[in-house]
Amino acid sequence: MREIQQKTSRVSSTQQQQASGVPFIQKQSKQQTTAQATGMTRTTFDQEVNTRFGITTVRNGTMQDQVLSVQRYSRGATLPTTIPGWQSWDPGSQSPKYDAILAGIQDLANAFGGIPPVQSISFFHSAYDYSNGNYIQQPNTGADYSAGILNVYHQFDSISSFPVARSTTATTAGGRPGAPIPALNPHQSGRQTISHELGHGIAEAAHLANPNVFQDFNLAAGWHNGHLYDAGNTQVQSDLSQGNTPGAQFEITAANWNNPRWIDQPMSRYAVSGGQSEDFAESIAAFAQVPSVLQARAPRRYAFIQSNIASWRAHLRSVTAQAGGGASGNPVRTRSPQPPRRD
Ligand SMILES: [Zn+2]
Repeated sequence: MREIQQKTSRVSSTQQQQASGVPFIQKQSKQQTTAQATGMTRTTFDQEVNTRFGITTVRNGTMQDQVLSVQRYSRGATLPTTIPGWQSWDPGSQSPKYDAILAGIQDLANAFGGIPPVQSISFFHSAYDYSNGNYIQQPNTGADYSAGILNVYHQFDSISSFPVARSTTATTAGGRPGAPIPALNPHQSGRQTISHELGHGIAEAAHLANPNVFQDFNLAAGWHNGHLYDAGNTQVQSDLSQGNTPGAQFEITAANWNNPRWIDQPMSRYAVSGGQSEDFAESIAAFAQVPSVLQARAPRRYAFIQSNIASWRAHLRSVTAQAGGGASGNPVRTRSPQPPRRD
């Protein structure tokens, strides 16, 4: 419930910001975390993100940094300089979390031929919102991205997964109709989160390339007045093209999103509950991580992305494709040997 409220407000804020021309901001939700003592060193990570992607700043955020960050999300309001109970987060001198972040960026670069113009990566323990005079911790937020600034929170690598395939009447997820949704290990989860966040950066690039891109996306995906309808249905297509509200029997909700009866199937519950901007970011992440699944489940979203890449690329930072990206054929979403660890 809290998640839904949080996401609803993000969507609303995003729409306002898009309308006003202010850079828009989104967050990805998540669940659990883990810490390990292996993986890439911080020194290597800092060097790699710089040399591969032109990201010049990597830092462990201070409380003052976070105040400024929350201020940006509050559209510039001046906020108190102290966040009660604030704590820092340092992923460490060596951590597999660095590998996951680097791989998530590379996956996106391989799929799109560039990345959004990320300037900095900052690590914070938790996200905060500011409302009614108080800083409110947002433990379900894993990362956020806006206008070149990527914030990564300590639980970014325990987000739920995409389904493994198109939902059919022959597949079940937890005893219900729909394609199975595997648990992800932290590396896979973190990688997906980073691709999702940079998907919001792709949205910014897409908006620069075409100010009407979200109207086009709404038509392709089936969004109308904040509700999602099955865009694969010809009656829905007809209604949407005329600006009419499709019938309620065609509405895809957070409760039925994985049902095989939909022709164009969204990639996750969050893609529905989060609104059009989260659907967009989830579709981008899927395009980078599991393109064949996106194509099978949501051919209209897949085709929309394919047909726009060339124009979006003009607003991306060029990078060199390297091995290890999901779109290059390396499977990144496999069944975890065990559920994500909880602590
Ligand atoms: Zn998001």
